[in-house]
Amino acid sequence: MKDSHIGRRQFVRYSAAGIAAVASAKALAEESIASAQSSKHLHNKETKEADVLVVGGGTAGVIAALQAARAGCRTILVENGSMLGGTMTVGGVAFPGLFHAWGRQIIAGIGWELVTETVKLDDGRLPDFSIPTGRSHPRHQVRINPNIYALLAEEKCLQAGVELRYYETPVKAEFTDGRWNIEVVGKGTRMTTRCKQLIDCTGNGYMTALAGYPVLRENETQPGSLMFKIGEYYSRSVDQKLLREKYEEAVKDGRLVRKEFRNKIEGLLKKAGNNIHHISNADSTTSAAHTATNIESRTTLLETLRFLREEVPGCEKTKLLSMQPETAVRETYRVEGEYEITESDYTSGKLFDDAVCYSFYPIDVHDEHGVRPEHLSEGTFPTVPLRALVPKNSKNLLVAGRCVSSDRRANSALRVQASCMAMGQAAGAAAVLAVARNTTPLDVPLNEIRTLLAKHNAILPEANS
Ligand SMILES: Cc1cc2nc3c(=O)[nH]c(=O)nc-3n(C[C@H](O)[C@H](O)[C@H](O)COP(=O)(O)OP(=O)(O)OC[C@H]3O[C@@H](n4cnc5c(N)ncnc54)[C@H](O)[C@@H]3O)c2cc1C
Repeated sequence: MKDSHIGRRQFVRYSAAGIAAVASAKALAEESIASAQSSKHLHNKETKEADVLVVGGGTAGVIAALQAARAGCRTILVENGSMLGGTMTVGGVAFPGLFHAWGRQIIAGIGWELVTETVKLDDGRLPDFSIPTGRSHPRHQVRINPNIYALLAEEKCLQAGVELRYYETPVKAEFTDGRWNIEVVGKGTRMTTRCKQLIDCTGNGYMTALAGYPVLRENETQPGSLMFKIGEYYSRSVDQKLLREKYEEAVKDGRLVRKEFRNKIEGLLKKAGNNIHHISNADSTTSAAHTATNIESRTTLLETLRFLREEVPGCEKTKLLSMQPETAVRETYRVEGEYEITESDYTSGKLFDDAVCYSFYPIDVHDEHGVRPEHLSEGTFPTVPLRALVPKNSKNLLVAGRCVSSDRRANSALRVQASCMAMGQAAGAAAVLAVARNTTPLDVPLNEIRTLLAKHNAILPEANS
């Protein structure tokens, strides 16, 4: 038992170093003495060769990297945060959906493997997918423990040979002689990666924009949400009329902002913080925008906590039980791709000739009042064409996740987690085959991509299915 633990830890250390051999204690000691004498190694310059570079280790990126590495590609995953999972884990949106539509499973593969193993390791339960949800589609979303998801995602990446690069971000991208040269910086490191295929899974189309391809953004974007949990107040003893009056006063004084709780303070107590906070113009694209978004959402949470404790009878002992480290962001930039999925493609369940996965969710555009999901008609199975994962006029570049090329309303449905995972796997498979053929993903025969995806347990869109 003990040995196997040691074995696993050693494995993880060796792989993470993929990176570098584990130094002996003596060597480490010597190194730290050397570092006291010279600061040179605090600013490492590295050059790396890879087949596939995935940028963004979130919902889509983890799956893209796993698919690429499991199919034999040397894969690097660059993530500017400290762990995997993105909005699912760091953002705390830990209820992925939808893997099922109209009585059958439509998304499986690597994402489903991770989700079901997460549920198992947490003694959780999968929803009963045989019971139709009607208009309550969240009933088919899978409640997961985000920390376990992050741990398993990391373990699986290391086992597959993915080189993980946390705390790093690309700052320059050039495509020459059929290869990408990507300059990546992080704490004390500057890496140039020469790779054959690049996959943008940043959620924001950051890599696509950096490489010089167009991205799109609406004048008004959906609000983001800081996920937190409050407790130890007594809802039943709270006088709702008084709560509203106090709230109106606080809004008038400028201490609280009306739309941040969807214009209704009662919802905050009812939901205890769960997915209720709405921050307008939330943006995670750049460090500056993300910093401003986080500061705003944390400031308003602190004000709200003080308001409840100091002004609302029954809430004097309210506690902030948990808070995610980052505001979860719903909408920023979308990539302008070789094809833009329209709302009508989505709601009619268009089966594209180059469909690589399904997606399933209501049209789901949030505003300051919350959201009124617009459900699909019975039997509708939207699909995602490979062309929507390819930035227009680009070569050897794919995107996956919420920045998929689509109009705003189609995107409000495509952005959900199961769909992002399916897109991630499809992008990973297309990249692998493009590497093998030394070409660009759109020149890979579609049947080869579909065959590889099926081999890795993905579900492929079919006519009359
Ligand atoms: C509040 C909220 C509620 C939601 N509710 C649901 C729901 O109920 N069910 C559902 O299925 N979906 C829901 N969604 C949608 C869904 O969670 C996201 O759209 C989806 O997770 C996005 O996945 P992604 O892979 O595109 O991006 P992310 O999961 O956000 O991953 C992007 C990753 O890229 C990294 N990154 C970004 N920029 C860089 C850079 N420059 N360099 C390096 N790394 C970078 C980020 O750190 C992150 O890890 C919700 C979203 C929000 C915000």
